Amino acid sequence: MNDFKKIKKFKIDIAKNCGFCSGVNLAIEKAKEATKKYGKIAMLNNIVHNEKVVKNLSKIGIIVVNSIDEIVDMPVLLQAHGTETKIMEELKKRKIKIIDATCPLVKHIHTVVKELEDENRKIIIIGDHEHDEVKAIVSQVKKCNVVSSVSEAKNISNAKKIGIVSQSTQMLSNYQNIVKALSLKSDDMQAVNTICKPSRKNQNEVMRIAKQNDIVLIIGSFTSANTKRLYKISKKINSKSYQIQSWEDVDPAWLKDVDTIGITAGASTPNELILEVKNNIEKYN
Ligand code: SF4
Repeated sequence: MNDFKKIKKFKIDIAKNCGFCSGVNLAIEKAKEATKKYGKIAMLNNIVHNEKVVKNLSKIGIIVVNSIDEIVDMPVLLQAHGTETKIMEELKKRKIKIIDATCPLVKHIHTVVKELEDENRKIIIIGDHEHDEVKAIVSQVKKCNVVSSVSEAKNISNAKKIGIVSQSTQMLSNYQNIVKALSLKSDDMQAVNTICKPSRKNQNEVMRIAKQNDIVLIIGSFTSANTKRLYKISKKINSKSYQIQSWEDVDPAWLKDVDTIGITAGASTPNELILEVKNNIEKYN
C-alpha cells in the first residue's frame, strides 16, 4: 500500500454476512477435522476459490493435487462446489477414502436436476460454462444445455418439456431474464431457482452498499466467480467499485474526496482479509 498522507475520517459500511458462506465454512471445518484424524489429506483442485485459504490449509497438512494419480495412501477431500460423477466413480474404483465437503445446497441442486430429468424434461442449467460447480451439475444428468446469457437462451431449440436449474451463485436478474427467454421455447416449463440463500443475501447487500456509499471495495480472489459477480452488480450501480484481493491493492487515489466506503467480500474470502481492509482504513483515518 502506498503512503496515505491525508488525515480523514471515513464512514465504513460492511455488507451483512459477507465473506465465508455456510458451505465454505463447513468445507473448511471438515478439512481441519480430517487432517487431525488422518495427518495429511489430498485436495482435488482447490476446495474454495481463494489462494490465502488454500495456503493456510496447506500448512496444516492438506496437499493440493491436480489428478487422481497423485493421490497415494491418503484420503481425498472434495470441494464445496461439488465434484463430477466420473471423478467420484474413479475415486471409488480405486478405493480412495472420500471426505465429501460438498455444500448441502449444491447437493440439493443435484437432486433437483435429476428429478427434472426423471420427468423427461430437456434440462437447462443456468451458469458459467467452465465453472467446477456447473460441471458437477452437468454430470448428474445424461444430457443438458448450459446457458449463461439471454443470447444463448435464444439459441435453444423448442421442447415439449423443459426443466431449469441454476448455479448457486448466479445473479438473480440473469436467471430471471434467461428463464423469461426460455419460456418461449416450451408450453411446459419447470424452472427451479436454485440460487442459494447466502448468494441472494450477498447480492442484495452489495446493491444496498453500492447505492449508499461513495466507493465500494469488493474483496476476493480473481479466480472466484461469485466475487466477480458481486463486483459486476456493484459497478452497475456505483462506478467507483473496485475488486481487490487485499489491502495492498487499494490505490490511494480511490479514497480522494470520499466520505463513505462500502465493503463486501466473496463467499470464499476469509474474515481476516475483510478485517485487514477495515483496520487499515481506520488506521488511515
Ligand atoms: S455459495 Fe451457496 S451453494 Fe455455494 S458453497 Fe456457499 S452456501 Fe453453498
